[in-house]
Amino acid sequence: MRKLLRGLYGTGPVVIAGPCSAESQEQVLATAHALADMGIKVLRAGLWKPRTHPGGFEGVGTEGLPWLQRAKHETGMLVATEVATPEHVSAALEAGIDIFWIGARTTANPFAVQQLADALHGHDVPVLVKNPMSPDLELWIGAMQRLAAAGLQHIGAIHRGFTPSTSHEQYRNTPRWDIAIELKQRYPALCILCDPSHMGGRRELVGELSRQALTMGFDGLFVESHCCPDQALSDASQQLSPFALAQMISQLDLRQGEDSSEELEQLRQRIDECDRELVGLLARRMAVVREIGHYKQRHHVAVVQTTRFNIVLRQAIELARTEGMSEAFITAVMRAIHDEAVRQQV
Ligand code: PEP
Ligand code: MN
Repeated sequence: MRKLLRGLYGTGPVVIAGPCSAESQEQVLATAHALADMGIKVLRAGLWKPRTHPGGFEGVGTEGLPWLQRAKHETGMLVATEVATPEHVSAALEAGIDIFWIGARTTANPFAVQQLADALHGHDVPVLVKNPMSPDLELWIGAMQRLAAAGLQHIGAIHRGFTPSTSHEQYRNTPRWDIAIELKQRYPALCILCDPSHMGGRRELVGELSRQALTMGFDGLFVESHCCPDQALSDASQQLSPFALAQMISQLDLRQGEDSSEELEQLRQRIDECDRELVGLLARRMAVVREIGHYKQRHHVAVVQTTRFNIVLRQAIELARTEGMSEAFITAVMRAIHDEAVRQQV
């Protein structure tokens, strides 16, 4: 998938863009032409829309296939749509849709993914797999494995964020960069895109999320763009006009996947030295932890002392803050250290 997209975009930013939903032939063509003019090579448009509640706009279905064909014919773009059932797959294959994507709600269901994999068997169509709604990396990987087992050669992943745990969060779907990074570590050859539209849920968040994703080394963006965003029948608040998208893209800092130079090598040596010190320091701390463990054993004192840990944590947060590190970060580090300390004492 990475090679395919790089082949289309050359050294430019890989941006797959288009409306949340195909709504009318005019809307699809107006959007496609505007996007093609700014160098976008792949048009996305949903025909079958999985909606949380019934009664909303559920997509135009097969009626929109000729609109996508026409957009492809007039602009030379490749066209992509979401498939959620074997019927969608056969209709989209027959219409010559170039790239498929599997939505977050579908990825979460192995039965549905297997049906799609079976329907795709023997067709060499590229498929992008969005992460499931909940932060479950194995489920995400499992969906891609089902497609790979069906013989598909061009598989990519899209990080679109995860359902937030409360309704007051900043993002519609919380980014979990750690999960995407773990996916990249486990499958370095896998192409991973970021969908900042469904992550942010609001158009003013799309630029910053895109910046963060590309800075981290994502392969590209999968972003919603509509010729008249405010009139969109679905996801109006998160879609960018092609003009706004072009502005956003012009501000992006494109990063390469790999680099090596003398300067970077020296900096990395310094990091390695810090890591050696860090591990040595942790080992020294754990030696004291074990001594305390023996004391607790002799005096029949319980291992977990929450009052003490709260003091340790508060001190660390204070110190970290003065060094420009976040409370969330130092809390996670201290909790991990405390977990290990408890393990060493029991
Ligand atoms: C979409 O891309 O239009 C869509 C429905 O996204 P998701 O599956 O990420 O909610
Ligand atoms: Mn959408």
